[in-house]
Amino acid sequence: MTDPERARERLVDRLRGERVDDEAVLSAMAAVPRHRFVPESRRKNAYADRPLPIGEGQTISAPHMVAIMADLLDLRGGDRVLEIGTGCGYHAAVTAELVGAENVYSVEYHEELAERARETLAATGYDDVSVRAGDGKQGWAEHAPYDRAYLTCAAPELPEAVVEQVRPGGLLLAPVGSGSQRLVRARRRADGSLDRETHGRVRFVPLQ
Ligand code: SAH
Repeated sequence: MTDPERARERLVDRLRGERVDDEAVLSAMAAVPRHRFVPESRRKNAYADRPLPIGEGQTISAPHMVAIMADLLDLRGGDRVLEIGTGCGYHAAVTAELVGAENVYSVEYHEELAERARETLAATGYDDVSVRAGDGKQGWAEHAPYDRAYLTCAAPELPEAVVEQVRPGGLLLAPVGSGSQRLVRARRRADGSLDRETHGRVRFVPLQ
C-alpha cells in the first residue's frame, strides 16, 4: 500500500468513527485519490480533514463536508446529478463513485478550474463526468431533469433555474446565506414547491 493510500484509509476510519455511518459514502471516500486533485504543493495535507486552496481564490471542501453532503443527498446508482461548483473535481469524483460517472454533470464558473478539473478527472478514471464552464445559477438545462442537485458554493437563495431542473420528488442541497450560511436540503414536491430542512451552520466560498 502506498503512503497516500494508507493516509486515506486513516482518514476514512476517522470519518467512520466521528460523523459518517453510511458505508457506501465511506467506500466512495476510500476510493477517490484526493491527493491527485489538490495542487502539488498541498499534497502532504491531502488527507487532513480540512479545506485546501485550489487556485483562483477557491477551496476544496473538507472531506467530512463532502461525505456529509453525499449522505444527505441519499445518492443511489443511476441517479442523475447536477453539481454547481466543480472546483478541482474531487467532490464530483466522490459523487461519481456513488451514481456512476456518466450521470454526473458539473458546472464551474472559472474556465481554468473547469479545464484542470476535466484533466484530473480523466487522469483518475472519472472521464465520463461532464464538466461545463459557465454560470451555475443557470444550471445545465440540456441534461435536466436531475434526481439530485447540489451547490459547493454558498448562494443567497437556492437558484431558481437549478430548482426547476430537479424532477418532482428530487433533492437539492446547498449552503444558503450571505455571511452566515446554513446547509439547506429541499425536496421538490409534485406541485413544484419545496419542502425545506436546515442542517447546521457551514462555511463555503460564495457563488459568483
Ligand atoms: N466541489 C469542489 C469545491 C469547489 S469550491 C471541489 O471538490 O473542489 C466552490 C466552487 O464553486 C469554486 O470552484 C468556484 O469557482 C465555483 N463557483 C462559484 N460561483 C459559481 C457559479 N456561479 N457557477 C459555477 N461555479 C461557481
